Amino acid sequence: MEDIIQNSDLYHNICGGNRITSKEALDLFSWDIIDLGNAGDMRRKLTFPKEKVGFIVDRIVNFTNICEAACAFCAFHSRANLIQSYELTIDEICRKVEELVAVGGTQVMLQGGLHPDYTLDKYIHMVTSVKKRFPEIHLHSFSPAEIVHISRKNSLSTDDVVKALKEAGLDSVPGASDLLVDRIRAKVSPKKNTVDEWREVIHSLCKNEMKSSATMTYGMGETLKEKIEHLEVIRDVQDRTGVFQAFIPWSFSPPRTQMADLLPATGMDYLKIVAISRIFLDNITHIQAGWLTEGLKLAQIALTMGANDMGGVLMEEVVVKATGITTRTHQKELVHIIKNAGKIPVQRDSVYQALRNFR
Ligand code: SF4
Repeated sequence: MEDIIQNSDLYHNICGGNRITSKEALDLFSWDIIDLGNAGDMRRKLTFPKEKVGFIVDRIVNFTNICEAACAFCAFHSRANLIQSYELTIDEICRKVEELVAVGGTQVMLQGGLHPDYTLDKYIHMVTSVKKRFPEIHLHSFSPAEIVHISRKNSLSTDDVVKALKEAGLDSVPGASDLLVDRIRAKVSPKKNTVDEWREVIHSLCKNEMKSSATMTYGMGETLKEKIEHLEVIRDVQDRTGVFQAFIPWSFSPPRTQMADLLPATGMDYLKIVAISRIFLDNITHIQAGWLTEGLKLAQIALTMGANDMGGVLMEEVVVKATGITTRTHQKELVHIIKNAGKIPVQRDSVYQALRNFR
């Protein structure tokens, strides 16, 4: 099998740094994991030749879990009856940011449910309040779903919403893509934005010269072809906009959600997705290893199969934790894990510039 793969046109195409087709990407799922991992690492070296692995000291602040979308894959929203409904005050939000600043953190992700009463003014107030007290903090906050929600509440275009949030001090917006396949979205998150609406928000970010990241939540009953369909949307949007600084795949965690009967995706599924996304997404520099959902050890292996970044230390995380996942980490541990993978750990900022190298 190994010789057959290494003599194949596809293998030579990948080694040559050529763009592969969706059909070829689909074929990669049947490859031996060692060959696929080597191919993913080879492409990582072509795109990001340094043997450095970045991470950022950040915090997610989930300011409310009241959400009118009530997605089937989410255990965080209050109607899932696992976490009592709450809304943080501006003071509570700022206290959390202060704790991050005290440990040398540089990035905050403000994220919440789609609260039925929150309009643009509420979001602007949140941004200006945080920025006024912590101008040095990079606000990588909200999501396309929240921007679509605000645009509906205020009868504004997504361009206008993004422009207003940027003027208030918002620095960038996570791509929070879930799975960009309308067949799956109609089943698991029918009240959330459609794929076209997601595209619209990303184009609005591009127009307003803001950066983003693309993600992928897989393991929600999609086919292999639909996994590639998701990657196609991201590659196409990135060709048109160039806004994505990173791609972050993670598996859906079924426990405690309305989809608890689904078998969780495996570690092998994850490593394949990392390698295939590295090969297919030839226009995105950074692929993050998702230690939060996959565990630190699997994320460490992903660093040898195409990933080149460990994402955030995540001083606080509530959404994934609601499904029962309890993985936590800290800077010292991430540095150890990265070094132990034979790489140089680098604390970075939100635009992937090095702040500190750990030799
Ligand atoms: S995933 Fe987001 S939009 Fe969906 S229910 Fe959870 S908080 Fe609401």
